[in-house]
Amino acid sequence: MKHALLITVSSAEIKAIRQTRYIKFQQCTMPYLAGLFPQDWQITHIDEETEPVDYHGSYDLAGLTFHTPCCYHAYEIADKFRSQGVTVIMGGPHVTLVPDEAAAHADSIFIGEAENTLPQFLRDFAQGQIRKRYADDGTVDLACAPLLQKQHFHRADHTAGTMFATRGCPNSCEFCTIRCMYNNQFRKRPLADVAQDFSALQGKVVVFWDDNISADLEYAKEMFRQITPYKKWWTSQAGIQAGEDEQFLQLAYDSGCRHLFIGFESISQMSLNAANKSFNQVERYREIIRKIHAHGISIQAGIVFGFDCDTPSVFAETLDFLRKNGIDQATFNMLTPYPGTPLFTRLKAEGRILTEDWSKYNSRTDVVFQPKHMTPQQLIDGFNDVNQKFYRLSHIVQRIARSRTNWYWTLPLNVIYSMLLTWRRWKRC
Ligand code: SF4
Repeated sequence: MKHALLITVSSAEIKAIRQTRYIKFQQCTMPYLAGLFPQDWQITHIDEETEPVDYHGSYDLAGLTFHTPCCYHAYEIADKFRSQGVTVIMGGPHVTLVPDEAAAHADSIFIGEAENTLPQFLRDFAQGQIRKRYADDGTVDLACAPLLQKQHFHRADHTAGTMFATRGCPNSCEFCTIRCMYNNQFRKRPLADVAQDFSALQGKVVVFWDDNISADLEYAKEMFRQITPYKKWWTSQAGIQAGEDEQFLQLAYDSGCRHLFIGFESISQMSLNAANKSFNQVERYREIIRKIHAHGISIQAGIVFGFDCDTPSVFAETLDFLRKNGIDQATFNMLTPYPGTPLFTRLKAEGRILTEDWSKYNSRTDVVFQPKHMTPQQLIDGFNDVNQKFYRLSHIVQRIARSRTNWYWTLPLNVIYSMLLTWRRWKRC
């Protein structure tokens, strides 16, 4: 029996940032990929959010997946295993976006999705003839994707687990890594597979790790009908078109949707247009928020600061908008030009990339490019100020008092997020 160690990598810096989150969503990449290994493989999954890597086991193979800010830590892990004679493979967003850099630390790298290439690698491995690169051509048929191996989840994150129904997004926002990851291809899993994963997760709350669950409204509606009988609650990311379709919202609520992360990104139409996201119409935001709330679904707004049209007034204006419209929760990020994206290419050509230290590319602690209408310090100060004000206890109380949605979901998340932010600030002092 051969033994593979699969590692969901998380660096010390990323773990510190995630300390401010109550729900630490389990990443489901490895619990799905585990299903691609033949029966004669023993699989161990280590999620660094919950446990350190074990370097003393007897492994034939170590497989790592990681995002850009964790890459240097991932390379350290890889180098250590390779020095012990363990074959190391790597995949995930950063490897796909910056393959040449990652290749220096691995025996094989996986560019793009792994459903086709990992089985090929395992056949090559059995014959002792692995290749340096396994590049997917972007045509993975999700009907062939394995079912979730939920025994490989380890996080205590207050949810039953994470799964996915769709992959990719048909849109092409300038700053987004999704289109680069999946060659702009949006695909859907068979509904029977989705229902099977959904029903198998033990517990009340399921997280759909989809990039945009409303990308195909008709598919989503049919999927909601199929999962309704299981009487669970769920959340996911969605585009604003989710709020334009009353039937989508009603079926979503009936199937257990209690919360949606909506990528508003900005309240500046000029910023959205420049980021190739003109399908977000700011003049529609108010009505969309009203409709989503009217269906009993709370909203977590995804907001990005630092677009080229943003001036220092954007922070107060955004905060005012979120308050006036009763947004239940918000995730604020500073614009980050991830390598491989059109945004990175443009800013690089304009001489505005300040650092290529990828550990700083986390959207929360560092500004890595020169903003157009403010200094990097103004951007980080404004970002921190909005975070503190939005999650101030008095503002949470006002929000909850006005909220017409499920306070049992929104209240604990707001209060605990606020407490964790305070604790983190206190720790920094
Ligand atoms: S809509 Fe969202 S997921 Fe799709 S490309 Fe834009 S930012 Fe990425």
